[in-house]
Amino acid sequence: MTKLDIVTLPDPILRQKTRPVTQFDDDLQVLIDDMIETMREANGVGLAAPQIGRSLQLTVIESLPKEDDEGNEIPNSRQLFVIANPRIVWESRELVDGIEGCLSIPGYLGEVERCQAIRVRAQDRHGKKIKLKLNGWTARIFQHEIDHLQGVLYIDKLTAPENFWTEEVFQKIQEEMDEEETIPNA
Ligand code: ZN
Repeated sequence: MTKLDIVTLPDPILRQKTRPVTQFDDDLQVLIDDMIETMREANGVGLAAPQIGRSLQLTVIESLPKEDDEGNEIPNSRQLFVIANPRIVWESRELVDGIEGCLSIPGYLGEVERCQAIRVRAQDRHGKKIKLKLNGWTARIFQHEIDHLQGVLYIDKLTAPENFWTEEVFQKIQEEMDEEETIPNA
């Protein structure tokens, strides 16, 4: 597996609509494995193909580990999704605000409103059709990644222009409020 370079703003590929995946061949399998490795190396929870310079409707997503009642990580409890040609077919009316980061906008965080739950139709890494029901944190990451495939970034959807911070400033705000939150970097 090869670690790929992550494209950052203002690279124009991040603003382009991507092409559907049509060939689920060996080259695609290599690309997918490289994207998974690149996401993990960057401590990300999601990575879309435009972020490694490929204009394709392809994304990899990995959930955070689950925790037991005492807050300890449960081993092997992360869930990995490889998603091609996704389409959101249902969105909850309930919306939730949350903090997001993006591997293509390093060093910054912002508050974004997302649907609490969504349903997605897509294809897996071999082209097989899949249906997913997602909610909460995983639904947020999916919405962030599917936006990438349309050339949309979270900074386009901030709850207010001022709700955008450097990581340092955000940390200070959190310390003042005595809160800690897990921030997805996708
Ligand atoms: Zn992103």
